[in-house]
Order: sequence, then structure tokens, then C-alpha cells
Amino acid sequence: EPSPAPTRDAVDLLERRTGAYAPLQEHYYAAPPQIERGWREHLVDTTGRHYVDMVNNVSVLGHGHPEVAATAADQWRRLNTNSRFHYAAVAELSERLLATVPDELDTVLLVNSGSEAVDLALRLTRAFSGREDVLCVTESYHGWTVASDAVSTSTSDNPLAEQTRPGWVHTVELPNAYRGTHRGAGAGEAYARDAVAEIERLSRAGTPIGTWIAEPRNGNAGAIGLADGFLAPVFEAIRAGGGICISDEVQVGYGRQGEWFWGYEEHGVVPDVITMAKAMGNGHPLGAVITRAEIAQALADQGTFFSSSGGSTLSSRIGATVLDVIERDGLQENARIVGAHLKSEVERLAERHPLIGTVHGRGLYLGIELVRDRETLEPAPDETAALCDRMLQLGVVVLPTGDRQNVLKVKPPLCMSRDSVDFFVARLDEALGG
Ligand code: PMP
Repeated sequence: EPSPAPTRDAVDLLERRTGAYAPLQEHYYAAPPQIERGWREHLVDTTGRHYVDMVNNVSVLGHGHPEVAATAADQWRRLNTNSRFHYAAVAELSERLLATVPDELDTVLLVNSGSEAVDLALRLTRAFSGREDVLCVTESYHGWTVASDAVSTSTSDNPLAEQTRPGWVHTVELPNAYRGTHRGAGAGEAYARDAVAEIERLSRAGTPIGTWIAEPRNGNAGAIGLADGFLAPVFEAIRAGGGICISDEVQVGYGRQGEWFWGYEEHGVVPDVITMAKAMGNGHPLGAVITRAEIAQALADQGTFFSSSGGSTLSSRIGATVLDVIERDGLQENARIVGAHLKSEVERLAERHPLIGTVHGRGLYLGIELVRDRETLEPAPDETAALCDRMLQLGVVVLPTGDRQNVLKVKPPLCMSRDSVDFFVARLDEALGG
């Protein structure tokens, strides 16, 4: 059944929001339903209508998770204080995080968000390399703080992003083997050659790169994997020139891709610094940086680091609970199996619906790219927006992403069931014209 028009109360509330809240941040949909409840991968609006939630990558365990709620209630009653005090939870969470990475990465710093993690990571790499200049890819998003925004080159939020980066930010093209300069087999190596040439050119020009930062799969661009064969030679060239490498795992890490807990694992590299957030707290603000002791020491040599809530008793306990549930309920494995089913079902739809150009991504981080022509790859942003509106009417929350706004972002809670996947695919088929 098509959804009823938003209630009068929901419309009034939207007007109040527009009146009181900064216009900088848009809300989803022109006429959004008022959603006040959620359970697993389902959202419920105030008319009682249910939606399958395909976009909440933060709620990895699902909405309204009782164990996270119980941990939070328990810890709030006992104590919530900061990490200058000595308590078990901060050590426990740090050890749990280190157990997910190779031994050489032996040091954790806890913060409250992805932007903070990226900002801190940049401070660490600059302190260690002694260099200011950073190399990143086009179409990236790394956060809203001054430094994390500086290395965000996506034009979807800021059309002038590429022209307005500070002088210390340098970019190479996102190695997109589907629609970039180099395509198909061998694209990764060709992009790597271009990037290495740029790294060497910058060094000769007197701005040697101290930091490489990229996601191992570009989430904002629509789950675009860095083309095979790209990352290892780039890491090598950055290190040969005296720089170090950050893998921003805020969006695609934490088991979401099914096959790997961390996205860098796909590329056969080990970064010097890893940033994470989102999934860590299932919605409670939590972020972290993992690095090597010598890199943390370089920042310690310049002063101290302290975050009032980063690594608090409450945050640390919630972080450990989230890891417990991911492990106990096999959510990474669920992402692998259910995600593979989802991808192959959408690929089957593509046989009948030429608008679907390709399906990017792995596990439960997918991007369904819509094009008007499979030869020219002309993006289909209007069709994508209309499809999302139609999907909402049909009971699915799914949204456009990317600089061309022509990719459906698919990043649901990791507890996503096969039934919900089948519901999504059937509604997508219907919205595409059956
Ligand atoms: N890095 C990446 C790759 C992200 O996708 C985001 C958020 N979308 C951030 C960093 C910033 O995280 P936060 O919103 O928690 O500050």
C-alpha cells in the first residue's frame, strides 16, 4: 500500500525543526515520515507504518538493541567518568580492538566520532612524518572538522570542494574501474602508476607527502572499491618518500563487508594508522584510532592528548558489548552471506532493468549504480531520486549517494535477514516497473 501523506503533526514538527535547527543539514526526503521507533532492520513511523532500513550503517546490531540498552543503563548507574581515571573498561576495549589487527599495530586512542578519529589520525601522521602535506583521492568524505573536511574532496555536499582545498591537500583520481580514466582489467595498476608519478612529482616540487588517506572502499562515492592492484604500490611509494598511510575504516570496516573485518585486508596491505567509528557504538558516539606505539609517541613528544568523553567508562563498555554481539551472533558472517544473496538478486534484476548499470561493493556495503546508458554510463540522478521516493512509499528507506547522486547506498544493519533482503529486492523490482 502506498504510504499515507505525512500527518499534520509530522508536518508541524518539520516546520518547527526548520525554524530551530541550522539549515546546513538537510533531512531525508521532501515529505519525511516521522520515525520514532526502530527494531532490528525495521523503522516504524508515527502512523504505525514499517520500513526496511537499508541505510543505517551505524546501527550494526540493529535498532533498539536490548543488550546495548542494558549495558548503558547499568554503567550509567555505576559510574561514567573519563579515561584519566583508572578502570577496567578502557583497557578491555583497547585490547579487544587490537585483537582485530596485526601485532605491529599495538596502540589505541579513543574518541567520540569518525571526524575526530580522522583529525587525530592526521595529527599523528604529521607528527611522525614531520610533514604537512596529505594525499587523498577525489570523491572522498572523511568528516566535518577543519582537518577531516580539508581532505574531503566529494562535490556532492560542496560543489566547490576540489577548488577550495587548502594548499597542503593534494588529490589523485579515485581509482574507479567502472567509470574512471582507467577501466576494466589492469585499471588498478594504471591508476597506481599515475598516483606514484604524482607522489614523485610532489616530492620534486618541494611538497613531499607525509600522509596518505583513503577509504579502502569509497563509501560516499557508492561503495566503489579501490581498483585491484592499486593500493599496495601506492603505500610503497608513500613510505619510500618518507610518508605513512591511513586507512579510514569509519564506514566500510567493522565486519560490514563480510569477507574481512577491516577493508584494508582486501588489498593485502597493513596501514600505519586506522580510523574507525560509526559501528563501534551502535549509535552511541564512539570513535578510535589504532596505530603503532612509535607513531603515538611522536604526538606525545609534542604534548598530551585528552578527550573528555573518548574512552569513558560508558563508551568503553558499550564498545565492548557491540563487539561481543557482533562476534556471538556471527554478524560479519551474516553480512557475507546475506550480502552475497542481495548482490546476486540485484544483479538478476539488472538483466531486466537496464537502468541498473552495476552493483558495487561487498557484504552489506553495496552501491547500486543507475545509468541512462550502459555504454556512455550517463548518470541517472533524477531517476535515482524518484526511485528513492517510490521505495519509501513501498516501505523501504534507501537513498542516493555519490558526486553524481546516481548510486543507491545499501548499508543496512548487519542483522539484516534474508526475508528483508527479498522484500527490498521485490520492492526495487516493482519501483523499476516490475
Ligand atoms: N570517515 C568516513 C569514511 C565517513 O564516512 C564519515 C561519516 N560519514 C566520517 C569519517 C566522519 O564520521 P562522523 O560523522 O562520525 O564524524
